[in-house]
Amino acid sequence: MTVPGLLIIISGPSGTGKGTICKALLQHRPDIYYSISATTRSPRDGEQDGISYHFKSKEEFEEMLDHDEFLEWARVYDNYYGTPKAPVAEAIAAGRDVILEIDVQGALKVKEKAPEGIYIFVAPPSVEVLRSRIVGRATDSMEIINKRMDKVLGEMSKLNEYNYIVINDVLAQAVNKVESIIEAEKCRTQRHRFMPDGGPQAALVVPKL
Ligand code: 5GP
Repeated sequence: MTVPGLLIIISGPSGTGKGTICKALLQHRPDIYYSISATTRSPRDGEQDGISYHFKSKEEFEEMLDHDEFLEWARVYDNYYGTPKAPVAEAIAAGRDVILEIDVQGALKVKEKAPEGIYIFVAPPSVEVLRSRIVGRATDSMEIINKRMDKVLGEMSKLNEYNYIVINDVLAQAVNKVESIIEAEKCRTQRHRFMPDGGPQAALVVPKL
C-alpha cells in the first residue's frame, strides 16, 4: 500500500525568501515534488520555461481555467498565477510529498479544499528588511515595489490561518525548520492507525483536491 505524500504549502508575502528556502530544501530533499506554477508574467533573467514556471499567454491561461485545470489560481499584481491540479494529485497519490510555493490568497483557497495540508507562513524578520530585499532584487519597477509593499501588511494579518511560521532571518536555519516541520508532521498520531497484528502504520490521509 502506498502511503500518500503530504501537501505542504509554503506561503507568505513576496520577497520573504520562500523561493530561496524551497530551492535549498529541494537540494537536501530531491524526493519532494515541487509544483511548477503556470503564470502569465514574463520570464526574468535565468528563468526557464517548465522549470521556474510554465510561462503562458493570457489566452492559454484562460483556456486552462476553462478546463478547470487549476487547484487554485490568483491574480498577483497584474499577472495570473495558478497551480496545475493533476501533477500535484498524481505526486501525492504516488507517495511523494508536494510543495506549493504560492502567495497568501492562493494558500487560503487551497486551505478551503484541503484543510489537511500543512500551511507554513514564511515571514521576514521585519517589514523594513522585506522592503530592502524587494528593492535589492532590482528586477521590478518602483511602482511594482510599492504595490508589493502595500500588500504585505494585509497578508501578514492572515498569519493565524497557517499552522506554522518560519521567520527567514538566517536561510540555513529557516530551511532546517521547514524540514523539521515536515518530519514532525509525519510523526503525527492522526496520520497513523494501530494495526492489532502489526503495530502502528502510516494511515491514508488523502487531501481531496
Ligand atoms: P514572482 O512573480 O515573484 O515569481 O511571484 C509573485 C508571487 O506569486 C509570489 O508570492 C509567488 O509565491 C506567487 N505565486 C507563484 N506561483 C503561484 C501560484 O501558482 N499561485 C499563487 N496563488 N501564487 C503564486
